[in-house]
Amino acid sequence: MVMDKLGSSLQDAIKKLVSSGRIDEKTVNDVVKDIQRALLQSDVNVKMVMTMSKHIKERALKEEVPKGMNPREHVIRIVYQELTSIIGKGTDIPLKPQKIMMIGLQGSGKTTTTSKLARYFQKKGLRPAVICADTFRPGAYQQLKTLCERLNVAFYGEEGNEDAVGIVKRGLKEFEKYDIKIIDTAGRHALEKDLIKEMEDIHAICDPDYKLLVLDAAIGQQASEQARAFNESIGISGVIITKLDGTAKGGGALSAVSETNSSIAFIGTGETPEDLEKFEPDRFISRLLG
Ligand code: GDP
Repeated sequence: MVMDKLGSSLQDAIKKLVSSGRIDEKTVNDVVKDIQRALLQSDVNVKMVMTMSKHIKERALKEEVPKGMNPREHVIRIVYQELTSIIGKGTDIPLKPQKIMMIGLQGSGKTTTTSKLARYFQKKGLRPAVICADTFRPGAYQQLKTLCERLNVAFYGEEGNEDAVGIVKRGLKEFEKYDIKIIDTAGRHALEKDLIKEMEDIHAICDPDYKLLVLDAAIGQQASEQARAFNESIGISGVIITKLDGTAKGGGALSAVSETNSSIAFIGTGETPEDLEKFEPDRFISRLLG
């Protein structure tokens, strides 16, 4: 049931629509208000919430209730469709040989997610290899190396060498025969110019099939600015939202995804390499509205 997938606060709102009654403006306004509250609490951008509310109101009042559907079902369907159109269907990363470049701010969970992604492909029967081009954060090399060793995933890095571009070049050569090459780049505290330049140089050298931006679910409204800057620099082909096992609902990250016209590929739901899930819009919607 679609109703079950919607969060509890939305379910309450929708109960206000009497199943057999007419859809009047006041009822729709009440429902929309409850939806707004839930989305804003989840950190979804105000502008997005307002645009969506307008669409829901217009459609709920103007569109005829389809045959065989009661008014309540009709409104639920509209809410669901509007949310899905913002969230998108998600990026489907194909199971074939490719290069993936990981980007994101420091602490977003980029390194952990790199190992999760390697594990994901490994479980699907493809041979992954990981290159550590994060020469900026102390400990990044060792952290990724250890994670890869535990998973029995091939790893390339040069501890102490700051030439990230050279490392990527040599790593790719070494891993020519592997199916999936995942390149972990240096995280940024903020979008410093020299690190952006390095990211662009790495991008030019490795010509990745996918550029995945890792965003912490708790990031809130700064997500959009960051995503825009990354997008302008090398282009984002998908987003991974991490730490969705915590209390944050990822509304800020979602706003960033929507603003940059990208879409979500995976979500991170814990600290172990197994805690990566393919993005499912339904579950995300119910979480946002929960
Ligand atoms: P990086 O600086 O972006 O490479 O970040 P790390 O990969 O080192 O992750 C920073 C912290 O977030 C670490 O303590 C990770 O264990 C933790 N982390 C990463 N992804 C998740 C997740 O999906 N859920 C939880 N609970 N913790 C995560």
